[in-house]
Amino acid sequence: MTAQVETAVRGPEAYSLARNAISEMEKAGVWPTPLNFELWIHYLGDPEGPLGVEIKRLLAEDAVISDETSEMLAAEFLPRGRLSEEIRDAGAVLDRELASVSAAIAKAHKTQTDFGETLADASQTMDTAGEDASALKSLVGGLSTATQRVRRETASLEKRLESSNKEVARLREHLEQVRRDAMTDALTNLANRKAFDERLEQACADAGRTPLTLAILDIDHFKRFNDTWGHQTGDQVLRYVSTILSRVCSGNRFVARFGGEEFAIIFPGESPGAVMAALEHIREEVSSRSLRRRSTNDDLGAVTLSAGFAEHLPSEGAAALLERADEALYASKRGGRNRVTSARALENAA
Ligand code: GH3
Ligand code: MG
Ligand code: MG
Repeated sequence: MTAQVETAVRGPEAYSLARNAISEMEKAGVWPTPLNFELWIHYLGDPEGPLGVEIKRLLAEDAVISDETSEMLAAEFLPRGRLSEEIRDAGAVLDRELASVSAAIAKAHKTQTDFGETLADASQTMDTAGEDASALKSLVGGLSTATQRVRRETASLEKRLESSNKEVARLREHLEQVRRDAMTDALTNLANRKAFDERLEQACADAGRTPLTLAILDIDHFKRFNDTWGHQTGDQVLRYVSTILSRVCSGNRFVARFGGEEFAIIFPGESPGAVMAALEHIREEVSSRSLRRRSTNDDLGAVTLSAGFAEHLPSEGAAALLERADEALYASKRGGRNRVTSARALENAA
């Protein structure tokens, strides 16, 4: 899911987007199947994206959006994976909720109309009943029954709406949890690569108004560490480093597990000096502690890490910025590891 759609389906406009999707499908004569719902959510959430452009083209041609067309659109344009499956499920639940609520509203509407007719009949009967007490009595009896029916119907509609609200709230909570899981690295609890890629893309698009710096950090000789102490102890080290990174990266900084033993930090709005100081702080803190293996209390010595960072250049894309930060990281490795290098220093030296 693109960052834009992600924000749209979980932002203040989420429900109006969902309603809009249903009404746009209806206008276009497209069945509100869960898959079409998902397609239309993506299309309306990002109308100028590739899917939006394709759907608009099909609609302009008056093409029939058959199930096959939808499947093809989904295969080509929808992001796959658990999150989109969950959205499809959520779409199905929303469909059911909407259908059930509109049925309840239709029923209540009919009862109200019937009640109106009952009242009209009653006033006519009153004109003809005159002083006839029994006719008036049966009239009032009829009116009372009709009123009770309206009251029952309204109460049942209220109940239906309440349970629908609860169901939608439950759904939202569930999707929120799925979204968090899909963006989090299970071992370290840091943001994962997917979350990082999206954030960096956004940060590069927003850059210009504020400075932006990207750092990549890599644990030194980690393969050797794993070979000596085992993978599980290696995992403990990854968690140890992550804890330090999380602490240092509170506020606007964004830290992610970039790959195996590599981490990345986005620093928005900070000077190169402040970034250098933060990275030096991390480097020193990581290497300052002699680690112990939990199970055996073996002394594992200290681990070190190397880092490189690059400041975003005007109109630079995420890939180019990453590449320059990576070159700075490799300069740190070549220079003997356990150090921080800035891409600018590297470029000035060249
Ligand atoms: P360098 O200082 O040049 O970075 O050397 P290195 O050994 O750290 O780099 P290399 O890329 O050769 O090896 C990275 C190692 O990281 C290999 C792999 O076993 C380990 N690794 C990657 N992901 C995990 C993980 O999730 N858990 C553990 N325990 N190890 C991992
Ligand atoms: Mg590495
Ligand atoms: Mg390494």
